[in-house]
Amino acid sequence: MRALTFQSERTVAVETVCDPRLEQPTDALVRVSLTAVCGSDLHVYHGRETGLDRGTVMGHEFVGEIVECGREVRGLTVGTRVLSPFTTSCGSCFYCHAGLTARCERGQLYGWVEDGRGLHGAQAEYVRVPCAAGTLVAIPEGVGEAEALLLGDVASTGYFCARQAGVQPGGVYVVLGCGPVGLMAVVGARHLGATDVFAVDAIPERLALAERFGARTLDLGRGDAIERIREASDGRGADAVLEAVGSSAASRLAVDLVRPGGTVSAVGVHTEPRFAFSPVEAYDKNLTFRIGRCPARSVLEELIPLVRSGRFDLTSIISHDLSLERAVEAYEMFDEKTDGCTKVVLRP
Ligand code: NAD
Ligand code: ZN
Ligand code: ZN
Repeated sequence: MRALTFQSERTVAVETVCDPRLEQPTDALVRVSLTAVCGSDLHVYHGRETGLDRGTVMGHEFVGEIVECGREVRGLTVGTRVLSPFTTSCGSCFYCHAGLTARCERGQLYGWVEDGRGLHGAQAEYVRVPCAAGTLVAIPEGVGEAEALLLGDVASTGYFCARQAGVQPGGVYVVLGCGPVGLMAVVGARHLGATDVFAVDAIPERLALAERFGARTLDLGRGDAIERIREASDGRGADAVLEAVGSSAASRLAVDLVRPGGTVSAVGVHTEPRFAFSPVEAYDKNLTFRIGRCPARSVLEELIPLVRSGRFDLTSIISHDLSLERAVEAYEMFDEKTDGCTKVVLRP
């Protein structure tokens, strides 16, 4: 099959690789109809996250059709159109029951093969899905293909970020980063009833999208975000900061923006070895700091009514729809944010 593979830092390639096959009776095989490039792929692309074997099929966002099911896969059949969270989950362990499917005892991240072990990704014609019954969700009635794709990661992650920030009507909230995840965090915060949502980025077209979803925008380049948030909050600072970047600079800004007793909710993937703030700063602010991978499998179903309501046009974040054969170009464009690129989907 054709697939986008990791080669080395800043080098990915579209090549012909072996088709995946069922390995366990609980696996399913999905023919991918739509996949996407994510900010998380960029951490690997830039070598901030290391360890991936050369030749690993990348990508963790996809929808498609089941073409083969292992004999122990319950509740799904060949021909079912499915969406998938970006990690697999068994549905029966302690963490799955607790709603933390991102830390399932048997869970795996698509697109991560290290020292020959792991799971190939979905920027490909086919993908193997372990624990298929616990992982995959049949695309619900009234949910389009592209919306289903977004539910598997960025929409769920943005909403999760807002939920773990404790967003409620009446507060002042700041979203750092207006990439796909930050934009969906704006949507999540608005959905949870926030009216004062500020969105920070330096890229005009991304800020414009944030505004369309109901945020007030702050241009990072102007350097006045702290001042503007103080003005909007009687000098206190934000009730919560939703960090959707994944850098020291963003962490630092989040802690500077939040008021005493407030929450920093970080979904940006952090690869730095140290926090950008000190224990004494956290103590002196009575800070609540929440961070980690989104348990998309347990979150996405809460969002299906939001998608169906049509209140937010989630797919308006998709700026490019290309053939998988153009995936290398897609990585470059999404990374450099050229040609107004906010989110690229790829068709195998
Ligand atoms: P992206 O690269 O498209 O977006 C990041 C945005 O942040 C860009 O628009 C950039 O201009 C902006 N930015 C950079 N520095 C900033 C700063 N200091 N302040 C404010 N904005 C700044 O990526 P994305 O797809 O939106 O993903 C965002 C982050 O979320 C990545 O780190 C990604 O790995 C992570 N992520 C985490 C999860 C999870 O489960 N926790 C899931 C998906 C993605
Ligand atoms: Zn993703
Ligand atoms: Zn589990």
